[in-house]
Amino acid sequence: MPTSLTKQEYNEKARERLMKKVTIADAPNPALGSTCWNHGGTPSNTNGHRYLWYSREGVTEQHAHRVSYRIHRGEIPEGQLVRHICGNASCVNPDHLALGTNQQNMSDMALMSNTPVRAQSGIRGVCETANGRWRATVTFMKKAQTKVFKLKEDAVAWRERMVRELHGALVGYPAGSKLGSAN
Ligand SMILES: [Zn+2]
Repeated sequence: MPTSLTKQEYNEKARERLMKKVTIADAPNPALGSTCWNHGGTPSNTNGHRYLWYSREGVTEQHAHRVSYRIHRGEIPEGQLVRHICGNASCVNPDHLALGTNQQNMSDMALMSNTPVRAQSGIRGVCETANGRWRATVTFMKKAQTKVFKLKEDAVAWRERMVRELHGALVGYPAGSKLGSAN
Protein backbone atom coordinates (compact mmCIF):
# COMPACT_ATOMS: atom_id res chain seq x y z
CA MET A 1 0.00 0.00 0.00
CA PRO A 2 1.41 3.45 -0.84
CA THR A 3 2.50 5.42 2.18
CA SER A 4 0.98 8.60 0.73
CA LEU A 5 -2.38 7.55 2.19
CA THR A 6 -3.52 9.38 5.28
CA LYS A 7 -3.85 7.28 8.38
CA GLN A 8 -7.62 7.27 7.99
CA GLU A 9 -7.38 6.12 4.37
CA TYR A 10 -4.88 3.46 5.30
CA ASN A 11 -7.13 2.22 8.09
CA GLU A 12 -10.13 2.10 5.79
CA LYS A 13 -8.22 -0.07 3.35
CA ALA A 14 -6.95 -2.25 6.16
CA ARG A 15 -10.55 -2.61 7.36
CA GLU A 16 -11.62 -3.77 3.89
CA ARG A 17 -8.89 -6.41 3.94
CA LEU A 18 -9.86 -7.44 7.46
CA MET A 19 -13.57 -7.74 6.75
CA LYS A 20 -13.09 -9.70 3.52
CA LYS A 21 -12.25 -12.76 5.59
CA VAL A 22 -14.72 -12.25 8.39
CA THR A 23 -17.70 -14.53 8.99
CA ILE A 24 -20.15 -13.19 11.55
CA ALA A 25 -21.09 -15.93 14.02
CA ASP A 26 -24.69 -17.23 14.03
CA ALA A 27 -25.46 -16.60 17.68
CA PRO A 28 -24.31 -13.82 19.98
CA ASN A 29 -21.82 -14.58 22.69
CA PRO A 30 -24.12 -15.05 25.72
CA ALA A 31 -21.95 -13.02 28.07
CA LEU A 32 -21.27 -10.15 25.70
CA GLY A 33 -24.57 -10.01 23.82
CA SER A 34 -22.89 -9.51 20.47
CA THR A 35 -21.59 -11.90 17.86
CA CYS A 36 -18.02 -12.94 17.19
CA TRP A 37 -16.46 -11.89 13.92
CA ASN A 38 -14.51 -14.97 12.98
CA HIS A 39 -11.54 -14.19 10.82
CA GLY A 40 -10.74 -16.91 8.33
CA GLY A 41 -7.17 -15.86 7.57
CA THR A 42 -4.14 -18.08 7.94
CA PRO A 43 -3.36 -18.88 11.58
CA SER A 44 -0.46 -16.67 12.62
CA ASN A 45 0.51 -18.80 15.61
CA THR A 46 -0.57 -21.83 17.58
CA ASN A 47 -2.97 -19.77 19.70
CA GLY A 48 -5.35 -19.48 16.79
CA HIS A 49 -4.74 -15.80 16.06
CA ARG A 50 -5.14 -14.92 12.38
CA TYR A 51 -2.60 -13.36 10.10
CA LEU A 52 -3.16 -9.87 8.72
CA TRP A 53 -0.39 -7.48 7.79
CA TYR A 54 -0.51 -3.83 8.85
CA SER A 55 2.37 -1.43 8.59
CA ARG A 56 2.22 2.29 8.95
CA GLU A 57 4.49 4.96 10.47
CA GLY A 58 6.76 2.50 12.17
CA VAL A 59 3.90 0.38 13.49
CA THR A 60 3.84 -3.17 12.21
CA GLU A 61 1.19 -5.70 13.09
CA GLN A 62 0.70 -9.19 11.81
CA HIS A 63 -2.28 -10.38 13.84
CA ALA A 64 -5.80 -9.68 12.60
CA HIS A 65 -7.19 -8.98 16.10
CA ARG A 66 -4.49 -6.37 16.78
CA VAL A 67 -5.14 -4.77 13.40
CA SER A 68 -8.86 -4.69 14.18
CA TYR A 69 -8.14 -3.03 17.52
CA ARG A 70 -6.02 -0.34 15.87
CA ILE A 71 -8.58 0.33 13.15
CA HIS A 72 -11.63 0.48 15.40
CA ARG A 73 -10.38 1.47 18.81
CA GLY A 74 -7.03 3.18 18.41
CA GLU A 75 -3.42 2.80 19.43
CA ILE A 76 -2.10 -0.11 21.45
CA PRO A 77 0.16 1.32 24.16
CA GLU A 78 3.67 -0.09 24.40
CA GLY A 79 3.77 -3.27 26.45
CA GLN A 80 0.02 -3.82 26.23
CA LEU A 81 -1.59 -6.82 24.60
CA VAL A 82 -4.92 -7.17 22.88
CA ARG A 83 -6.98 -9.85 24.59
CA HIS A 84 -10.11 -11.68 23.49
CA ILE A 85 -12.74 -11.23 26.18
CA CYS A 86 -14.98 -13.66 24.25
CA GLY A 87 -12.35 -16.39 24.49
CA ASN A 88 -12.29 -16.87 20.73
CA ALA A 89 -8.80 -16.34 19.34
CA SER A 90 -9.94 -15.93 15.74
CA CYS A 91 -12.47 -13.22 16.66
CA VAL A 92 -11.80 -9.67 15.48
CA ASN A 93 -14.98 -7.97 16.74
CA PRO A 94 -13.62 -4.78 18.35
CA ASP A 95 -16.25 -5.08 21.11
CA HIS A 96 -14.69 -8.43 22.06
CA LEU A 97 -11.18 -7.04 22.27
CA ALA A 98 -9.59 -5.37 25.26
CA LEU A 99 -6.16 -4.16 26.20
CA GLY A 100 -4.48 -6.15 28.90
CA THR A 101 -1.30 -7.27 30.52
CA ASN A 102 0.76 -10.28 29.64
CA GLN A 103 -0.46 -11.88 32.85
CA GLN A 104 -4.09 -11.56 31.83
CA ASN A 105 -3.30 -12.84 28.37
CA MET A 106 -1.56 -15.93 29.72
CA SER A 107 -4.61 -16.58 31.81
CA ASP A 108 -6.87 -16.22 28.76
CA MET A 109 -4.73 -18.65 26.81
CA ALA A 110 -4.58 -21.18 29.61
CA LEU A 111 -8.36 -21.13 29.69
CA MET A 112 -8.71 -21.36 25.94
CA SER A 113 -6.27 -24.17 25.28
CA ASN A 114 -7.63 -27.64 24.64
CA THR A 115 -11.18 -26.37 24.53
CA PRO A 116 -13.16 -27.12 21.38
CA VAL A 117 -13.42 -23.95 19.35
CA ARG A 118 -16.66 -24.88 17.72
CA ALA A 119 -18.83 -26.91 20.02
CA GLN A 120 -22.18 -28.29 18.82
CA SER A 121 -23.95 -25.64 20.84
CA GLY A 122 -22.11 -22.89 19.04
CA ILE A 123 -20.71 -21.91 22.41
CA ARG A 124 -17.17 -22.72 23.41
CA GLY A 125 -16.91 -25.47 25.96
CA VAL A 126 -20.60 -26.40 25.99
CA CYS A 127 -22.00 -29.39 24.14
CA GLU A 128 -25.15 -31.48 24.13
CA THR A 129 -24.94 -34.96 25.58
CA ALA A 130 -26.54 -38.08 24.08
CA ASN A 131 -29.51 -37.81 26.47
CA GLY A 132 -30.22 -34.17 25.68
CA ARG A 133 -28.39 -32.57 28.57
CA TRP A 134 -25.67 -29.96 28.36
CA ARG A 135 -22.12 -30.56 29.39
CA ALA A 136 -19.89 -27.60 30.19
CA THR A 137 -16.13 -28.06 30.23
CA VAL A 138 -13.45 -25.70 31.46
CA THR A 139 -9.86 -26.61 30.78
CA PHE A 140 -7.34 -24.82 32.90
CA MET A 141 -3.64 -25.58 33.08
CA LYS A 142 -4.35 -28.83 31.20
CA LYS A 143 -6.91 -29.98 33.78
CA ALA A 144 -10.50 -30.30 32.64
CA GLN A 145 -13.48 -29.65 34.90
CA THR A 146 -16.86 -30.78 33.71
CA LYS A 147 -20.43 -30.42 34.86
CA VAL A 148 -23.69 -31.55 33.25
CA PHE A 149 -26.87 -29.46 33.27
CA LYS A 150 -30.46 -29.87 32.17
CA LEU A 151 -30.53 -26.40 30.66
CA LYS A 152 -28.07 -25.03 28.17
CA GLU A 153 -28.25 -21.56 29.80
CA ASP A 154 -27.17 -23.06 33.12
CA ALA A 155 -24.24 -24.83 31.49
CA VAL A 156 -23.16 -21.60 29.82
CA ALA A 157 -23.57 -19.61 33.04
CA TRP A 158 -21.58 -22.14 35.07
CA ARG A 159 -18.77 -22.18 32.57
CA GLU A 160 -18.60 -18.40 32.49
CA ARG A 161 -18.48 -18.21 36.27
CA MET A 162 -15.69 -20.81 36.34
CA VAL A 163 -13.72 -18.97 33.68
CA ARG A 164 -14.04 -15.73 35.63
CA GLU A 165 -12.96 -17.37 38.88
CA LEU A 166 -10.01 -19.17 37.34
CA HIS A 167 -9.05 -16.04 35.49
CA GLY A 168 -9.17 -14.00 38.67
CA ALA A 169 -7.05 -16.55 40.49
CA LEU A 170 -4.36 -16.50 37.86
CA VAL A 171 -4.31 -12.75 37.36
CA GLY A 172 -3.67 -12.48 41.09
CA TYR A 173 -0.32 -14.24 40.68
CA PRO A 174 2.71 -11.97 40.82
CA ALA A 175 4.50 -11.63 37.50
CA GLY A 176 7.16 -14.26 36.91
CA SER A 177 5.93 -16.59 39.63
CA LYS A 178 5.47 -20.21 38.73
CA LEU A 179 1.90 -20.93 37.83
CA GLY A 180 0.33 -23.56 39.97
CA SER A 181 -3.20 -24.82 40.10
CA ALA A 182 -6.04 -22.37 39.97
CA ASN A 183 -7.09 -23.03 43.55
ZN1 LIG B 1 -15.68 -12.69 19.81
